[in-house]
Amino acid sequence: MAAKANELVLFPSWEVECEAWDNADGQNCRAICPLPHSQLDNILVSREEVERYDKISCRDRFEEIKHLLSTEEAWILTALLHITGGSMVNSSLWDMIRSQALMSYDPPNFAPIWTTFKLRQGQSALAGAMFQDAGDNGLQYVFQTPVKSIVERSNVVTVTTHAGREFRARRVVSTIPHNVLHTITFDPPLSPTRQEAITMGHINYMTKIHADGDGVTPSGRAHIVGFGKDERATFVPERNPEKAVDAFQKLHPMEVNKMIFHNWNTDPWSLGGPAWWPPEFMTKYQEELQSRHGRVFFASADWAHGWQAAIDGALEQGSQAALQVVKEIREMRGVMARF
Ligand SMILES: Cc1cc2nc3c(=O)[nH]c(=O)nc-3n(C[C@H](O)[C@H](O)[C@H](O)COP(=O)(O)OP(=O)(O)OC[C@H]3O[C@@H](n4cnc5c(N)ncnc54)[C@H](O)[C@@H]3O)c2cc1C
Repeated sequence: MAAKANELVLFPSWEVECEAWDNADGQNCRAICPLPHSQLDNILVSREEVERYDKISCRDRFEEIKHLLSTEEAWILTALLHITGGSMVNSSLWDMIRSQALMSYDPPNFAPIWTTFKLRQGQSALAGAMFQDAGDNGLQYVFQTPVKSIVERSNVVTVTTHAGREFRARRVVSTIPHNVLHTITFDPPLSPTRQEAITMGHINYMTKIHADGDGVTPSGRAHIVGFGKDERATFVPERNPEKAVDAFQKLHPMEVNKMIFHNWNTDPWSLGGPAWWPPEFMTKYQEELQSRHGRVFFASADWAHGWQAAIDGALEQGSQAALQVVKEIREMRGVMARF
């Protein structure tokens, strides 16, 4: 696998990635993750085997295979890992394995699965259409209203906001992300296992910056997207945008005309990017995070079965919670109608 520096071009990044992360079980992850939407509960692989792999960090795997890599390949691999928004040590290999399984066990599928097809009018149009549909079906809503506590008493759940407003319901579906949940008080308290998972949080503190630059391509204008790992201690983009411009210019001489970014790490509604987990987290906490707490459902992409940390995962968790709530409300109405 090792290439000389000037041969790097012969090794597309996906080949390096394939050997390093995705071939972890020698079968492109088919053996260890045959059903990515059922990682823990399938008849093809034992839970103990999954737990064994889930203990491995990306650093562990890197140490295992680094003798196969040229300096440049090792560098590419380390850079690719920034997609987790964490470090090599606190990023679990399992999230890489699951991602590989979702790409039909073949990294070149990344393009057709992730980037080839777009919504013609963009993601905002999808969100807008869902919102419109919910509104047409009687949705009432408030925005910019942070929740302070969620209390269940006598079959009723009361959600109280920081401004003191109260909302009562027979069922509540919370979409509050993993890293924000620690700011909410629950009564009755959450299980010790869920509390532990919430206190640990996830490890994705990524930076994603779009830049328009001149001088990168022969045609002049180029749009570049840069991803960075967890650098909260040394770099807060909105406080120091010049540092981001410097980084782009180190990559290639260019004039940066415009940058666009949103800092998910300092945003109080997310306190991090979409969830990537540390070693041992999935096998210890995924089922608990997905479970209900009395009459409260937790529907976040952060702990979806398959497309964790993706829009499909949000749809999966939201649909599951909605179907269960509808079922229970119908049953309740049926019981009430009989009396
Ligand atoms: C930069 C970036 C790029 C991404 N790219 C992709 C991609 O290409 N493809 C893809 O599929 N996914 C992508 N994702 C991930 C995807 O956007 C998320 O996983 C998904 O939108 C999460 O949906 P959700 O419903 O679980 O959470 P969210 O959409 O985050 O909804 C959570 C809601 O809870 C609210 N909330 C938070 N705290 C409180 C509180 N205290 N009180 C009341 N409300 C609160 C928030 O305001 C928000 O409305 C990306 C994410 C980021 C950050």
